[in-house]
Amino acid sequence: YDYDLLVVGSANADLVTVVERRPAAGETVLGSDLVVHPGGKGANQAVAAARLGARTALLARVGNDGHGRLLLDSMRDAGVDTVGVLVGGAPTGVALITVDPSGDNSIVVSPGANGRLSPEDIRAAGSLFQAARVVSAQLEIPLESVVEVVRNLSPEGRFVLNPSPPRPLPREVLAACDPLIVNEHEARVIAGADAELGDSPEDWAKTLLALGPRSVVITLGAEGALIAVRAGERVRVPSVPVEAVDTTGAGDAFTAALAWRLGAGESLAQAAGYAARVGAAAVTRPGAQDSFPTSQEVEALCCALPGDTPRTPGR
Ligand code: ATP
Repeated sequence: YDYDLLVVGSANADLVTVVERRPAAGETVLGSDLVVHPGGKGANQAVAAARLGARTALLARVGNDGHGRLLLDSMRDAGVDTVGVLVGGAPTGVALITVDPSGDNSIVVSPGANGRLSPEDIRAAGSLFQAARVVSAQLEIPLESVVEVVRNLSPEGRFVLNPSPPRPLPREVLAACDPLIVNEHEARVIAGADAELGDSPEDWAKTLLALGPRSVVITLGAEGALIAVRAGERVRVPSVPVEAVDTTGAGDAFTAALAWRLGAGESLAQAAGYAARVGAAAVTRPGAQDSFPTSQEVEALCCALPGDTPRTPGR
């Protein structure tokens, strides 16, 4: 394999300005100097994996513009192979973010080129799928392109999906997930508005497994995560106690780390234990991509070794 991980997803420029008060309809307010951060869940996961040392490629689409060049540069600086990043067709995706002094924000996302990453683009990148141990995706690209990702997986290729922003998924996609990685909100949307999800994360996992994925990971923020496999294993993965500064990007860092360690042959429990350390490290620093740790920084974070997680009996 040429790549430990192929990420298929979005790349956005996050344009951030701080305002005294977020504007009401028809109102104009002055903001601080604009800060531009590389973002988008696909780019975030690719950068997180590469920073840990994974050989990572990104399949994405950006515009033929300044934001697109900025994103390509930042990904290359992080060590991501951008051979699969297509250029043109629409402006680079942008998130316009206004933040008030209390930290509350308003966000407008213009998907731009992310919305033009088509099923034909996915098919044309077929060789990347053959070259990667694990493929991960999110839902900031068209759903029909995610379906095409699943159809292009190599026979041994493992597929990891974080369905964010969440929407109901076709069975074909759900059945390919190993694991499906969700927080509570995503679990509710994937299960469907009418579904009884149950009270505990164990109940949510059971409901989701009935939809077809081979395994499910429920992320629980500072509470850690729960893993559940179809065969019956349920394991609570404790979080690593840290002082949280900014949780932005924790889910992307967690997902990237988990996907990478699965490809390295670790069990889901081991990989999730490592991912919990990576997620914890990411919340100790502000920002998304800026907060992602190197493997040395993960090692330095004091906690149990991967695999030392307490196990609850399978049900
Ligand atoms: P995002 O806000 O990035 O969308 P998410 O809701 O998908 O995040 P979280 O559950 O917030 O995902 O975080 C993913 C993982 O990161 C958690 O399962 C946990 O292991 C770790 N993590 C998140 N927040 C904290 C925290 N405050 N302390 C320790 N670990 C954390």
